[in-house]
Amino acid sequence: MTINLHIYNTLSRAKERFEPLAPPFVGIYVCGPTVYGDPHLGHARPAVTFDLLFRYLRSQGCKVRYVRNVTDVGHLENDADEGEDKLARKARLEQLEPMEVAHCYTERYHKAMERLGTLSPSIEPRASGHIIEQIELIKRILAAGLAYESNGSVYFDVEAYDKRHKYGVLSGRMLDEMRTGTRTLDGGGDKRSPYDFALWKRAAPEHIMRWPSPWSVGFPGWHLECSAMSVKYLGERFDIHGGGMDLMFPHHECEIAQSVAASGHQAARYWMHNNMITIDGQKMGKSLGNFITLDELFTGSHPLLAQPYSPMTIRFFILQAHYRSTLDFSNEALQGAERGLDRLMKGVATLRKITPSDDSSVDVGELERSYAEAMDDDLNSPMVISALFDWVRTINQLHEGMQRITAADLERLTELVERIVFDILGLRDEKASGADNLVAPLVEMILEVRSEAKAARDWAASDRIRNALAAIGVRVKDRKDGPSEWEVE
Ligand code: ZN
Repeated sequence: MTINLHIYNTLSRAKERFEPLAPPFVGIYVCGPTVYGDPHLGHARPAVTFDLLFRYLRSQGCKVRYVRNVTDVGHLENDADEGEDKLARKARLEQLEPMEVAHCYTERYHKAMERLGTLSPSIEPRASGHIIEQIELIKRILAAGLAYESNGSVYFDVEAYDKRHKYGVLSGRMLDEMRTGTRTLDGGGDKRSPYDFALWKRAAPEHIMRWPSPWSVGFPGWHLECSAMSVKYLGERFDIHGGGMDLMFPHHECEIAQSVAASGHQAARYWMHNNMITIDGQKMGKSLGNFITLDELFTGSHPLLAQPYSPMTIRFFILQAHYRSTLDFSNEALQGAERGLDRLMKGVATLRKITPSDDSSVDVGELERSYAEAMDDDLNSPMVISALFDWVRTINQLHEGMQRITAADLERLTELVERIVFDILGLRDEKASGADNLVAPLVEMILEVRSEAKAARDWAASDRIRNALAAIGVRVKDRKDGPSEWEVE
C-alpha cells in the first residue's frame, strides 16, 4: 500500500515519508488531558490536530490504533517531583474522592471533544489503571542500572543514562548545557542530581492517591505512564507519538530515556508536535486572566470574548493554521473564521443546486490534486482550505451559469468536496444539525404548498406564506426556472 504522507519528525528535525512498521496497521500514541480542570483552549489544538491525522490515515486505507491517555494520577508541580498533587488538591478543596474529580473532568473533556467533532480514540487508557505496568517498567530500568532507590522513592539516573545513551535527543537540550545553565541547583532531598526525575514517589502521609509497590506505598512519576501504556497497547516499537510542543521537554524526553533504558531502543519512530496557542499575542495562563475554557468559548461567557463561538468555528479556526505554527486567538480572528466557515458551508450546499450541462468548463481533477498534495505535505490543512475556497468561487459560478459542468463531473465534485469537508476536516454544518434537521424538509413542504397556491393564482396565500417564513428568518428567493430557493438568515 502507498500512503501519501510526509511528516515533520521532531526527532530528526526533517520531513520524512511516513512508512508504517507493519502496514496497514498504524499505531499512534498521543498524550491526553490531565483531568483535574475544565477542558480549555489548550486541549482543543492537539485533539483537532491528531484527529486530522487519524482521519487522514484511515482515508489512506490504514488500520489505525489511536491511543490517547487520560492522566488521572495527579502529577505534581515541577515535573512530578515536588509540590502538591493537583488532582488531590482539587479533591481536597471540593471535598471529593480524587476519582470523582477525575471522572467529572473526563466526562467534560469527552463532551467538549465530541462537540469539536473529534473522533473517539481507539483506546483511552488511564494512568491509574496501569500501576502494575508502571511498576514493571521501573523494575526493568532498575535492572538496567539506570535508576536508583532512595528513601522509598525511585529516581531515573540521568547522568548514568547520558554516559551510555545520550540524554536530550529529542529536545536538543544536552546535559552539559543544562549544567552550565543552572548555577545554584542543589541536589536536594532524595535525588543524587537535580536532573534526575522520579519514577516512583513515596507518598507523604497527606497524599490521598497511593498504591503499594516494592519500594513504598506511593505513586508513579508523571513521565512513566505514557512509556508504559504506549508499549502495552502498541508494542515495543510503534509508529507515531504525538502531543503538544510544551510536552517535548521534559515529558517526551524522559519518555524516550525510559524506553531506551528499559528495552535498549526507542519506542516511537516519528514524533509529531503541535505548536501552542496564544491569546491576543500572549501565552495563555490563569495568572494573566486569559485562561479560556471551551465552555466559555461556546457560550461567550468570558470577559475577553465579544460573542459565543461555535465548536465548528473553533475547529475551523484551528485547521486554518498549520499545526506546527503558533495560533493566536482574538475576537477578530475568530469572527473571520466564523465568516469563512459560513461561506464554505454555503458553497457545499450550493453544489446540490447546480444544473448540469453537456460539457465541463472546469477541471475537478485540479481540486483532487491540490488536496492530495497539501495533505501529503505534513497535513497542510490551510492549503486544503484555501483550495476549497477557490472552488467555492467556482461552485457559485456554476450555479449562476457562468461555468458549465457535466452530471458525472458534478457527482465527482460533490463527492470530493463533501469527503474533504466532512470526513477529513471533520467539519459539520451546525445550522443543519440536530433538531434543525427538521427545518429543511418542513420548509420544502411549505414551499410546495406555496407553489401550488401560485399555480392556482392565489397570490394572497403565496404572499402570506412568504411573509410568514420571513418573519421566522427564512428568506425565500423565487427563480424564473425551477423551484424557489430559501436560506435561514
Ligand atoms: Zn505523555
